[in-house]
Amino acid sequence: MEARRKWKSLKRAEEILVRLLDHYNRCWRPRSTDPFRSLVRTILSQNTNYRNEAVAFDRLESAIGVTPETLVNAPVEAVADAIRPAGMYNQRSRTLKKVAEAVIEHHGGDLKPTLAKPYPEAREALMQLPGVGPKTADVLLMFAAGKKVIPVDRHIFRITKRLQLVSAKASYDEVRKALEVATPLESYEDVHVLLIRFGREVCRAQKPRCPQCFLKDLCPYSDEFR
Ligand code: SF4
Repeated sequence: MEARRKWKSLKRAEEILVRLLDHYNRCWRPRSTDPFRSLVRTILSQNTNYRNEAVAFDRLESAIGVTPETLVNAPVEAVADAIRPAGMYNQRSRTLKKVAEAVIEHHGGDLKPTLAKPYPEAREALMQLPGVGPKTADVLLMFAAGKKVIPVDRHIFRITKRLQLVSAKASYDEVRKALEVATPLESYEDVHVLLIRFGREVCRAQKPRCPQCFLKDLCPYSDEFR
């Protein structure tokens, strides 16, 4: 009985993800060859939109440079001023300086050897860095190291819970694993990127657009669930 329930819920998850992949064009985000730059970008992207993150990163690049050495040597006020468009700039500037220091001290200034380690080891090492939790570590491991993982951001949390792909109390790793089991390896990156897009455009935090949603017949949250 339990095995059948699990099988049915896996089939449903697979159908949802196939629809998602069919609905949007396949999209790829260019991978950075420099993991430190990717890490800075990911930290700047926390709780802000893509545009503000990109502007803040470009300003940081022109004013200071995005390497562990330039950030360690820059005054914290200058870093804060450069990344102002990303918001929470006082707190983030301190985090960026601490991350830069830790990368120099514990990784010899280069994260590539750490990222080349097997996933659990690399993730554990990244999560020792200030400001790096499971999501930031997984984003870096997926985009900068090509590891097979589906990072879970706040949109993905919300969507998977509304769709009841996981329980209401599921943890970060429970959501990640549920998605990974239902997704073919070659689609991990697309599922991550497209679920975020779906969360911004359709399954929004406030006022989800259920009547227009292409998943409404599969979603217990919607009135049109059959
Ligand atoms: S039907 Fe509504 S709640 Fe369900 S996935 Fe679509 S937008 Fe989200």
